[in-house]
Amino acid sequence: MVWEVVGQTMAVSLLQQSLERKAVAHAYLLVGPPHVGKMTLALDLARALNCEASEPPCGVCHSCQKIGVAKHADVQIIGLPGDGDSAGAKPRAEISIDQIRQVQHSASLPPFEGRHKVFIIDGAELLSHEAANCLLKTLEEPVEKVIFILLTTNERLLPATVISRCQRLKLPPLPAAEVEAALNSRWDVEPQQAGLLAKLSHGCLGWARSAAVDGEVLQQRGERMTRLHNIIDADGEERFAYAAQLASQFSRDRRAVQEILDLWLDYWRDLLLIKIGCEDAVTNADMLAVLEERAGGYSLAHIRSFIGSIQSAEEQLRQNANPRLVLEVLMLNLPERGK
Ligand SMILES: [Zn+2]
Repeated sequence: MVWEVVGQTMAVSLLQQSLERKAVAHAYLLVGPPHVGKMTLALDLARALNCEASEPPCGVCHSCQKIGVAKHADVQIIGLPGDGDSAGAKPRAEISIDQIRQVQHSASLPPFEGRHKVFIIDGAELLSHEAANCLLKTLEEPVEKVIFILLTTNERLLPATVISRCQRLKLPPLPAAEVEAALNSRWDVEPQQAGLLAKLSHGCLGWARSAAVDGEVLQQRGERMTRLHNIIDADGEERFAYAAQLASQFSRDRRAVQEILDLWLDYWRDLLLIKIGCEDAVTNADMLAVLEERAGGYSLAHIRSFIGSIQSAEEQLRQNANPRLVLEVLMLNLPERGK
């Protein structure tokens, strides 16, 4: 048995037991932060369901290999068409009802080369209202040998009726040590880099792995950090302009804005940790000198209160509050240095 996913022992052992008892659910909902391993686990399950070996998933048989390179006719991944970021992208990024109708049609046909048809819906929170209703009908009438795996970072954006039809598996972030060890042993990342990426990843191995191989990930973090410092040092007018810019970005790419707010949260938490003498615990371990200098400019109470403001902004955005309003309030709450 070779499960590709790292950690996630609860979810893996539950799935393994269901496979052994031949009691696999018709639909699963994998819930967890971005890059925590949802897609890897979904593909593991798809492999296990179609593997030709006695202890599935073997990872080496014809079927497992085809699934690994997304070439298996019975395993389909449904997500946003194209990459949401490109110029001229649709104003609202959604998984459309047409995509789900195609799934319905395909699900009505028997498996082509394997034993099970597996449909993986990546970013299920992005299903349009009509698409979700259409999917619900399919989930309400399970077809033998057809398995749906919905992946989501935010299940609150999914209709309760859809959730109730799925077996829900939560994928929590991995401990930093586990991320560090995996980077080291599986992907040969040197120890110091692995340590930093493990901290920055917050337990989301997929993020750490792509940051290790793709220099742009850390470069983007550097740019966002520079922007953060610019905004902290800017006047009210510039901060409001930034709030407006983030709000418009949010309507195109909410994930990017969430990442920026997460970076803000890390930054202010780091200032707090330095204030209370826990330098070893900071996330941005490679920026310690800058953080120490900056921490000197704020009182503990101001730092604490602004951390609360970022958290409540994130929560309000998750609940679909008006992004411009939320982000403007956040900018108003930004503490001034030396006060
Ligand atoms: Zn296999």
